[in-house]
Amino acid sequence: MKIIAYHVRDEELEIVEKWEKEHNVDVKIVKDQLSSENVHLAKGFDGLTTSQNKPIPNDIYEKLNSYGIKQISQRSAGYDIYDLKAASKNNIIISNVAVYSPESIAEFTLTQALMLIRKVKEIEERTNEENFSWQPEIQGRLLAEMTVGIIGTGHIGRSAAKLFNALGAKVLGYDIYPNDKAEEYLEYKESIEDVIKHSDIVSLHMPATEDNFHQFNYEMFKQFKATAYLINNARGSIVDTKDLMSALDDNLLAGAALDTYEREGAYVPRDNRETGISDDLFKAVLNHDKIMYTPHIAYYTNVSVRNIMTIGLDSTLEVIKTGDTKNRVN
Ligand code: NAD
Repeated sequence: MKIIAYHVRDEELEIVEKWEKEHNVDVKIVKDQLSSENVHLAKGFDGLTTSQNKPIPNDIYEKLNSYGIKQISQRSAGYDIYDLKAASKNNIIISNVAVYSPESIAEFTLTQALMLIRKVKEIEERTNEENFSWQPEIQGRLLAEMTVGIIGTGHIGRSAAKLFNALGAKVLGYDIYPNDKAEEYLEYKESIEDVIKHSDIVSLHMPATEDNFHQFNYEMFKQFKATAYLINNARGSIVDTKDLMSALDDNLLAGAALDTYEREGAYVPRDNRETGISDDLFKAVLNHDKIMYTPHIAYYTNVSVRNIMTIGLDSTLEVIKTGDTKNRVN
């Protein structure tokens, strides 16, 4: 049995080798993403996995179908890059890796919360200038005395709620579909506004949809406590970045940690040192005193990298053996 794996990074090679041995399957590695130029390499293989963030022209589905390949196993949660109708028309199953390590994102959320309330960015700046004085601007607060609001209480939201709860914070939650598992760690409120007005930290963990585009805008920030913090590890489009900066400048809230930015696509994940950033709004985010920005890195742990690759290969094998997979999205 032979699988072809596109867009494999060096750090993943060891994981692939281990999986090959465990399953007695050969995996051919291609470093690039799947494209019209390299799709012919898939000829003769039984299955295919990739991690695309570049769109796939529709003729690729036709070609894969003509090679007898039945699936593209996408190694990420997102699959909006695919034309699911075109794939289905050509008998190509698209699968994703929806859940790989919610704990990784939850632990990063906790890290951001602690960095915000212990003023780590400010302390670091002062330390770099050899200012080692103790002053109220850098006095921290205790999580155990705070209320944390979780918006979106699915896999990641409830994992974050569990951590905050374990450290003694009161945790409130809002979800369009509340679930019993989350209720172990948080108390549901009827509306987002109800959560926000009582919270010292508001953390977003819902998917981006048409309905919540720029849902966190100036009007919403008016309902925050002036001493509260926003954490956005969900998707950039949920927050109106311009409004957030105005709200921070007008002291409607105290600070924000953003792991996502609404127009990050052109810059993340990429080394921009030579080309620079030409998006003025993004530059303003990076230079804002009250914003701690990280480049969509909340998920990025050894466990996530291992699980994404392993689950991606598992579903490829599942389709080869059974003709379908539980991770199918079309
Ligand atoms: P999930 O599907 O398990 O949970 C999402 C929850 O949000 C569900 O309970 C759903 O009912 C709820 N929801 C949907 N729309 C809502 C709305 N408008 N308001 C309130 N709640 C709403 O998903 P998950 O695995 O917990 O992931 C959540 C999000 O985290 C993903 O959609 C993704 O955008 C983001 N994410 C970020 C990273 C990162 O590295 N920063 C990594 C993975 C996922």
